Amino acid sequence: MQKKPIADWQKALQNAFTELDQLCKYLEIAPSKLSHQTIAHQSFPLKIPRSFADCIEKGNPNDPILRQVLPISEELTDVPNYLFDPVGDQASAPIPGILHKYSGRALLITTGGCAINCRYCFRRNFPYSEFQLSSSRLQNALAYIEQHTDINEIILSGGDPLLLNDQHLHELIQSLNLFEHIKRIRIHSRIPVVLPERITPELLTCLENSRQKVIMVIHANHTNELSPQLAEACKKIAESGILLLNQSVLLKEVNDNAEQLIALSEKLFQFGILPYYLHLLDRAVGTAHFEVDRHTAIKLHQQLLKALPGYLVPKLVEEQAGAPSKTWINQNDSNRSPNQT
Ligand SMILES: *Cc1c(COP(=O)(O)O)cnc(C)c1O
Ligand code: SF4
Repeated sequence: MQKKPIADWQKALQNAFTELDQLCKYLEIAPSKLSHQTIAHQSFPLKIPRSFADCIEKGNPNDPILRQVLPISEELTDVPNYLFDPVGDQASAPIPGILHKYSGRALLITTGGCAINCRYCFRRNFPYSEFQLSSSRLQNALAYIEQHTDINEIILSGGDPLLLNDQHLHELIQSLNLFEHIKRIRIHSRIPVVLPERITPELLTCLENSRQKVIMVIHANHTNELSPQLAEACKKIAESGILLLNQSVLLKEVNDNAEQLIALSEKLFQFGILPYYLHLLDRAVGTAHFEVDRHTAIKLHQQLLKALPGYLVPKLVEEQAGAPSKTWINQNDSNRSPNQT
């Protein structure tokens, strides 16, 4: 029997940069420019698809896009209050593959992998491979969803759910389509941003055919990530009747200034995407150098409120282990989570 040829996006993924030397050469940055930054990628490897590398300015070792994906020595610094599972994910998995923290919606972990490794991610320490859906796990997860008729929205997450091939995704969506109580299917994915090749006609057909409304929440942190290829992909996604939202993480020396955040909202709108959340960093081990303190975050958010129409202001939120939803942070907020200063 002939094996199905691998898709172009899968080839692009295989071509992702995984070696610092290769990356430096491509970006025309002398490795010595990065030499104070010893490699920290043993446990969480360097992984950058070429389309995303094209969002990095050539020759600029301090590029804000590069900073998101470059392993640096600060990751190895031990910082108090930075935890392996800061958002309490392991405690909220009723069965492998399902995270059911909030009422009405549950998160289905479809795969442990991502197309990219973002250095600030809480996933870097999380044993997601243990959560990967095998077919028996998938059956159990579907049974859980079937029994919990109070759930009306399923969030496909990971890792990145768009790493599933079209066949798997199609089967998964068809299975969810059978449940009357599920009203919406939400896809949380950074892939449209980092690997826009993935948005193929086959994928769009699969999503268009879903009985339930599909929402896609992408993840971009900086205007330079919003490439012409992404614009093209978003146009097609919107034409397929899918609502597009974006979530960002507030990251030091990436997007921690009002001009950039305002420009990001404006550009997202041009792409047909509405800003959804601006997250405070989850305090995962190895990510402390990305933290923007809460006070600064609130001040930045106030500047966004002043400068933008309400629908272009993302909600400033943080995730607190054990909380019944994301926690909204606003200027009057005197509540502090136990580990925030
Ligand atoms: C963030 C998250 C959600 C989604 O929350 P919304 O506020 O609906 O976007 C759902 N489940 C889990 C486990 C989450 O972490
Ligand atoms: S794509 Fe999302 S889940 Fe994956 S490493 Fe980046 S931030 Fe983490």
